[in-house]
Amino acid sequence: MSDELLQAIRTIPDYPKKGILFRDITTLLGNARAFRRAVDALVQPWAGSKVDQIAGIEARGFILGGAVAHQLSAGFVPIRKKGKLPHETVRIAYSLEYGLDEMEMHKDAIRPGDQVILVDDLIATGGTAEAACRLLRNQGAEIVAACFIIDLPDLGGRKKLEALDVPVRTLVAFP
Ligand code: IMP
Repeated sequence: MSDELLQAIRTIPDYPKKGILFRDITTLLGNARAFRRAVDALVQPWAGSKVDQIAGIEARGFILGGAVAHQLSAGFVPIRKKGKLPHETVRIAYSLEYGLDEMEMHKDAIRPGDQVILVDDLIATGGTAEAACRLLRNQGAEIVAACFIIDLPDLGGRKKLEALDVPVRTLVAFP
């Protein structure tokens, strides 16, 4: 199965800048069978469990997270770049390769004790997902797991989340 997913992911050299190999999941999303299999595999450990909310990170985490939420009969919470959400928000700053960025979600999106699964397309250094986990926990969420289609294990993101006691699920890895 992971072979099918691996083959459905396109690799684009030198995007967004020279020397980067960008893993592009739009080809997987456009392949009905691979998309279904990826979503089924992501949710499989929690089928039948009580999950209150899926939190998706902008933008590809919205596509996957919406499908995962539907499968688990959970709600969906968007985590967005700052300034995009219309209601009162809570915000967290995090480091990027160059400088800082901020992400936010609606202040009333999570109720204390909510069982939450975080979803994004890919984990690299884990900085984005770590900030999202902290933001969710600040609002009282209990993070059941963080799920990604792609792991870049050499960049250490999985270990970063596991050090925060967040179980990590990934489907394919690119060394
Ligand atoms: P991290 O914070 O270093 O783990 O980077 C992960 C974030 O950057 C996620 O939101 C990904 O969507 C995005 N990202 C980094 N590299 C890639 C890539 O090769 N393909 C798609 N998204 C990427």
